[in-house]
Amino acid sequence: MVRLRFAPSPTGYLHIGGLRTALYNYLYAKQNGGKFLLRIEDTDRTRYVEGAIENLIHELKWAGVEADEGVCLDENGKITEVGECGPYIQSERVEKGIYNKYAEELIERGYAYYCFCSKERLDDVKNQQKADGKIPRYDGLCRGVSIEDAKKRIANGESYVIRLKLPENRDIVFEDVIKGKITINTNDMDDQVLIKADGFPTYHFAVVVDDHLMGITHIVRGDEWISSTPKHIYLYEALGFEKPTFVHLPTVLNKSGKKLSKRNDDASVEDFRLKGYLPEALINYLALVGWSPESNEEILSLDEMVKQFSFDRVSKSGGVFDVDKLDWVNAQYIRKMEVSELAKLVKPYLVKAGFIKEDICEKRLELITKTFQESISRLPEIVEQSRFLFEDVAVEPDALKMRNVEHIEILKEKMKEELSQIEEMDEETAKGFMKKVQKASGFKGKDLYMPVRALLTGQVHGPELSNILEILGKGEILRRLE
Ligand code: GLU
Repeated sequence: MVRLRFAPSPTGYLHIGGLRTALYNYLYAKQNGGKFLLRIEDTDRTRYVEGAIENLIHELKWAGVEADEGVCLDENGKITEVGECGPYIQSERVEKGIYNKYAEELIERGYAYYCFCSKERLDDVKNQQKADGKIPRYDGLCRGVSIEDAKKRIANGESYVIRLKLPENRDIVFEDVIKGKITINTNDMDDQVLIKADGFPTYHFAVVVDDHLMGITHIVRGDEWISSTPKHIYLYEALGFEKPTFVHLPTVLNKSGKKLSKRNDDASVEDFRLKGYLPEALINYLALVGWSPESNEEILSLDEMVKQFSFDRVSKSGGVFDVDKLDWVNAQYIRKMEVSELAKLVKPYLVKAGFIKEDICEKRLELITKTFQESISRLPEIVEQSRFLFEDVAVEPDALKMRNVEHIEILKEKMKEELSQIEEMDEETAKGFMKKVQKASGFKGKDLYMPVRALLTGQVHGPELSNILEILGKGEILRRLE
């Protein structure tokens, strides 16, 4: 059975690229009847952000990309775990001594060593190497310290790290599913720190140990990690672990071809949620940034993506995240929605704008929603588009000029007359109202509709006029005519 994982670090928020990584892991796991895990990689304590784990889980859940195993939230919003391979938060695994056990085993077997070099010494070495035009890397001084001596120094309270002992001049080779065969010589690699001075493992060590212990079969992650993979490959060998399949995904780029970043772009999932994108639309579009289905369809539900997904059709180079395209996809989803569902989603925006009250009747809310369903591409757009219904609007200066004053006056009179005949502007009345005004005034087509729209909405174009009449109601129409 395949087992895939998403393993974010809780450094603040879920990046849109991270969501895509999670999604591809999810799609592949589901397609193959496997499991999708969520593990938290929090061994870099300096980058830990309070509340970030909850936020990650919350955004994944919102997007519909939920894990089968690992970290989740209970009904009170507290972090909890499901599954047999826990803990799934790395700092909790540190406390259990999981990483140290493997690090010590590597030392015993000659694959790793204690290193006592101070930061000052390491800096000096690096600076000298740079000055000599060499690539800075650890010079291996502590490789020569025997295990016995090292243990004495540790007992004396000296600070230390544990480093991987790379063999000289060996090609490390692996096959990436997307990028193909990758070869790096150990002479171009550094003796990676495995356990830091604070006793915590580095990402590189913890990721290998955990992916093994959690039975991960496919590692699917961003290609910023591809240069680290040779270290991991060597660790798999040193630890005697079976290697998983590696899949490195192309970066999510902005329109200028740069990595999507919080500084220049909306880059967090939360940004998009707050802007009123639908989760189904966001993941649909996001899946297409770097992957295309064989069917070339652009609108795919999560289930359809599960069926059609394949790594073969993931591109090698970066995918551009185009917000205009996302808007288009989002608009498609809004159009397809049941009005009653959409009404629930737009309601908070209309309430916040002061256009409607919390206790608005369902029928009226749905009428308002329906009126703008075809024209909004994001939920909050309904506020600007419907403003003319709830606030006094200035009539566009040119809107009435095209018909002479007399024409407008006749129209107003006839409308008022027709209004006086009706009790209430309900759906049926609204639908038949313009026909009546047409008959009474003798105006039709543009001579009728444009001035009426201008009188009531300030503009000559807009959504379905009978909906507008019904929403405004008899009293408000009269007031506007006056
Ligand atoms: N913790 C790493 C990150 O935040 C995970 C990388 C990986 O998937 O191996 O990107």
